Amino acid sequence: MKFGGTSMAGTERIRRVARIVQRQQAAGHEVAVVVSAMSGETDRLVNFCREADPLYDPAEYDVVVAAGEQVTSGLLAMHLQALGSKARSWLGWQLPIHTDDAHAKARIESIDSDALLASMAAGEIAVIPGFQGLTGDNRITTLGRGGSDTSAVAVAAAIKADRCDIYTDVDGVYTTDPRIVAKARKLKSVTYEEMLELASVGSKVLQTRSVGLAMKEGVRVQVLSSFIDDDAPAADTIPGTMIVSDEELAKFQEGLDMERQLITGIAADKNEAKVTLTRVPDRPGAVAAIFSPLAAANINVDMIIQNIAKDKGETDVTFTVPGADLARTQALLEGQKEAIGYYRMISDGKVAKISVVGVGMKSHAGVASTMFRSLADRGINIQAISTSEIKVSVLIDEDETELAVRVLHTAYGLDAKDEAA
Ligand code: ADP
Ligand code: ASP
Ligand code: MG
Repeated sequence: MKFGGTSMAGTERIRRVARIVQRQQAAGHEVAVVVSAMSGETDRLVNFCREADPLYDPAEYDVVVAAGEQVTSGLLAMHLQALGSKARSWLGWQLPIHTDDAHAKARIESIDSDALLASMAAGEIAVIPGFQGLTGDNRITTLGRGGSDTSAVAVAAAIKADRCDIYTDVDGVYTTDPRIVAKARKLKSVTYEEMLELASVGSKVLQTRSVGLAMKEGVRVQVLSSFIDDDAPAADTIPGTMIVSDEELAKFQEGLDMERQLITGIAADKNEAKVTLTRVPDRPGAVAAIFSPLAAANINVDMIIQNIAKDKGETDVTFTVPGADLARTQALLEGQKEAIGYYRMISDGKVAKISVVGVGMKSHAGVASTMFRSLADRGINIQAISTSEIKVSVLIDEDETELAVRVLHTAYGLDAKDEAA
């Protein structure tokens, strides 16, 4: 069981979490619980680091930001004890959860679970702070923002759990962010592949890495709400959304998902920036000269467009990078102006990437053209396009994000029936 930041924000909520955990134990399960810091707490700790030194030491950053989860793990253990259960916390270094030494974005390598399993078998509920791990040199690490999801999946894999229930502030995975589109519909199931794409293009309901890990390790993941009454349907009845393999999909397609559409979900990401280099020489090696320095600086390029060569043997190249890397990108490419031989660099941080995702796309034509037509009908201009086997993404003006998501949600027949206007 994993509980996110909103679910752990304050005494009343942690008490409710303790009751949910106790109910699972009463239903006959041995339980390990992974918790996040209280919502807002990690941001607060990150700010202290920035104030201390804008170029802070990432190893010390990890010491600071891992603290939020230490607090909630101890508190949940206390609440469980107060309700009469046996419980104890297991900090990342106590298990330990071994990671590499990429501070602030560490990867889990292995988890020692023997002591944990013995304690659980003896009836003790294990409470594990998410987000944190330990390097080979015994330094504390953290797994990147939203990383408690990954901690939960990794623990579930290590102890061979029957299921990894991710409790959050919405009752499942929706066709799009339900906080933005009121007509979003809850999905009964999503495939690993679809969830991986949705998470990576902006649906922050699960950290992307946690989905990749679940897929690799075959962990059964359910997303469900912690904001429930004591008499709510038990987690074992799968009230939330199951993340399933392609093969399992059919089994979950009953009920709600009889209406499963070609498109499973829509996501928006406002954290990208667009860069255009004009009049780049149209010759072998020109594009490599642009992207090699970016790759060397670890800057992730997402969408790329190279326009049709003009008669002069020149071409415009447009691409996107994470907004946070825009300044570094500009500096790098200005330094390479001569070498690349471009004329002007134009950049725009006010863009949004809108993506439609669905495994149905593999076997159906026309998904992209529906997207382009629907956006055109509303006068929304497309600035760049990229596709994968199960995804189409377009870049648009950031101000049109909500409109675009709503229009596409309707166009692909995803709107919830009961709330349809
Ligand atoms: P937690 O603190 O529990 O980890 P997060 O804030 O990380 O919770 O993730 C839950 C949030 O994800 C929801 O409140 C919702 O606004 C957002 N979200 C974005 N896309 C979706 C989606 N497709 N389905 C459900 N929630 C989504
Ligand atoms: N507390 C961490 C964060 O806010 C990890 C998490 O909540 O998943 O990013
Ligand atoms: Mg989260």
